[in-house]
Amino acid sequence: SGSSSLKFSLYQMRDEKLLAKGIIEKIGEDNSSISFEKESEKKKFERRIEDHHKAVEILEEILRTNNILTDLNALDGVGHRVVHGGEEFSKPTLIDKEVIDKIRSLSTLAPLHNPANLEGIEAIRKKAPSLKQVAVFDTAFHQTIPKYAAMYAIDKKFYQNSHIRRYGFHGTSHHYVAKEAAKYLKKDFKSLNLITLHLGNGASATAIKEGKSIDTSMGFTPLEGLVMGTRSGDIDAGVIFYLSRKMKMSIDEIDILLNKKSGLKALCGRNDLREIEMMIEEKNKDALLALEIFCYRIKKYIGAYLAVLGNADAIIFTAGIGENSKIVREKVCEGLENMGIVLDKKANEKNLTLISKKESKTKILIIPTNEEIEIARQSVKIIQK
Ligand code: ADP
Repeated sequence: SGSSSLKFSLYQMRDEKLLAKGIIEKIGEDNSSISFEKESEKKKFERRIEDHHKAVEILEEILRTNNILTDLNALDGVGHRVVHGGEEFSKPTLIDKEVIDKIRSLSTLAPLHNPANLEGIEAIRKKAPSLKQVAVFDTAFHQTIPKYAAMYAIDKKFYQNSHIRRYGFHGTSHHYVAKEAAKYLKKDFKSLNLITLHLGNGASATAIKEGKSIDTSMGFTPLEGLVMGTRSGDIDAGVIFYLSRKMKMSIDEIDILLNKKSGLKALCGRNDLREIEMMIEEKNKDALLALEIFCYRIKKYIGAYLAVLGNADAIIFTAGIGENSKIVREKVCEGLENMGIVLDKKANEKNLTLISKKESKTKILIIPTNEEIEIARQSVKIIQK
């Protein structure tokens, strides 16, 4: 659950069959919208939904009226995406009162996300108190990052007292696509060195050594690292002092500037890459420069991660942009041939899974992400314990 939405997928885990999925949006507004899919049947309607408790009631009603479940108690478990697990949670965790309190205490690190995630957990707990619920943390996969990569070079009291360090996000997606890549390559996940590129509206890169995350581009917050739809990614912290002192911007204004009004949107007026690609076709110079800046940053991270890994068995592209944008993949890989990364342009054009040439030392793969099934798989393991 997000701040004003509840996204759900219902799986029959025996064969991982997706029975239903949907999203309830604009919770708290007058016209909340509900989209629901069962097999090929799609439904969409509007209704006023005051809060997450009401949204869970609607969810139960949809499942009942569509003959999928009698009520929530008929489920074996519910897995939740929880954004911040801090240093407390390095694994998916069965939710009880103590875990809820810990997730709440981590809200200082993720004020926009953790309270919203808790809304969903508590709404289900109220409706079906004995139903097992599992928290799957977006930060958990990155808890193996060594201290020398996780710490910022600032007074260690800020780490000790205020937990300021690099955490990394998108962990569920990086972990999922990396494991899927191992399956595709018919290799043991724990034997592989991989660079995963999750390129959606938010974007991050991860270096995976022998199955463990050893570095990732997002840091204390999801602002660090790659250029994103509306986030700047890496920026000299000195810019913030300058904006404050010289431009008299408040901290809140700078926060909004760097998180919501920067990145691709700031560079060319659009944050949707499909629109940017169309603008490039129409020879829009700002759009082309935005794309170049976006791809250049990704390329720099690939170079850095090749250095920290020593070698990479594969580079994996995923999420909306990674899975679909031929031009981004081509620009990112351009010039990496002498480093053993050779894109097969024809395979790239066709969006195939394997898009590197035979001679490429590092394979290049497109693996669609699926955070929902990963959350379900991880939850099953915890519930069955
Ligand atoms: P998020 O889940 O972070 O909101 P997604 O993973 O859905 O984001 O990715 C959204 C991005 O993917 C948008 O920039 C969108 O333009 C881009 N995208 C989706 N489909 C395509 C496509 N066919 N070609 C190019 N970009 C695409």
